[in-house]
Amino acid sequence: MLELKEFRTKVHNDWCPGCGDFGILNAIQMALFELKLEPHDVAIFSGIGCSGKTPHFVNTYGFHTLHGRSLPIATGAKLANTALTVVAVGGDGDGFGIGAGHFVGAGRRNLDFTYVVYDNGVYGLTKGQASPTLPKGLKTKSMSFPSIVEGINPLAIAVSAGYTFVARSYALDVRHLKEVLKSAILHKGSALVDVLQTCPTYNDINTKEWYSGSDLPTKAPRLYKIEDTGYDGTVKNSSDAKEVNEKKGQAIIRSFEWGDKIPIGIFYRCEEPTFEDLIANRMPAYKQVPLVKQSIYDRDVTSLFESLT
Ligand code: SF4
Ligand code: MG
Repeated sequence: MLELKEFRTKVHNDWCPGCGDFGILNAIQMALFELKLEPHDVAIFSGIGCSGKTPHFVNTYGFHTLHGRSLPIATGAKLANTALTVVAVGGDGDGFGIGAGHFVGAGRRNLDFTYVVYDNGVYGLTKGQASPTLPKGLKTKSMSFPSIVEGINPLAIAVSAGYTFVARSYALDVRHLKEVLKSAILHKGSALVDVLQTCPTYNDINTKEWYSGSDLPTKAPRLYKIEDTGYDGTVKNSSDAKEVNEKKGQAIIRSFEWGDKIPIGIFYRCEEPTFEDLIANRMPAYKQVPLVKQSIYDRDVTSLFESLT
C-alpha cells in the first residue's frame, strides 16, 4: 500500500528557513497521497522562481520549465495524455507577470488541470522586487520606494478568464490547503488555487504575524473560511446563465475583501465541458486512446493529401 513518504524525494531543499513554501509542498504531497494517486499517474510542472523547485521535491513526473511557461507545457502534456493528473505550480511573479497571457488563455480552455500559485507579493528568487500582486503603496524591505502601480486580483481575473474552480488558501494552514487542493484536483476543468504564502526573507509586511492579526487593536486572525459565512460558490445548473453570472459576480466581489478580514476557501466552482470533452466531440477516438498511446506509424493519410490538392 502506498505511503506518504513515497511522494517525497531525497533532493536537498534550499528554501529559506520558515518559508511558506514548505507548507505548500507538504499540502501537495498529502493531497496526492490522500487521493490515492499513484506517483506515475501525476505530473507537476513549474516555472522559474523559488516555487519552481517544487517538482524536484515531489516524487512524481515533473518538469521545471521556463519563466512563465509552465501552463503551455502542462497543457501539452494533458492533451497528449488525458489520463495524467496534471498540476502546475508557480509564483505570483512567474504566473501573473511574464506568464499572464498563458494564465488567461489556460482558463479560457477549461482544460482539466490544477494551477497552484505561491503568492507572496514579491519576486523572492531575485531579491524581493514588487510582484504583480503587491498592493500599490506598499514597500517591502528590499524596495527603495513604495510600489506606484496597482496590484492585481488573481481570483477576479481567474473567474473572468473562465477558470471553473477558483479558490484561495494559506500556506501555513496545511490542513485547509490540502483539502482545497484535493477538491481542485478532483474538479474536472481548469482550477486555480491562489495560496497566500509567507516569504520571511523579503516580504516583511504580509508575515505570519500579520496574517494572525497581531497588529490589530483586538488581536484576531485576518483569515477566515468563506463558507463559515454561509457563502456557497458552487453553481448548481451550469446551463443557467443567470445563476452562473450571479455566482461569478459574488466570487469577484468577495475576492476583493482584503485588510482586517480576508476570506479563504472555494470562491467559484462550476461543472462545464472540458477542453478534452470538446475535442472528443470532434474526434471520438481522442478519449478512447490518449494521443500518447496512439501509433504515429501505419497511418493512411492519402485522403488528407487528396483533400489538399
Ligand atoms: Fe521562500 Fe522567500 Fe526564501 Fe524564496 S526568498 S525561499 S519565497 S522565504
Ligand atoms: Mg512571488
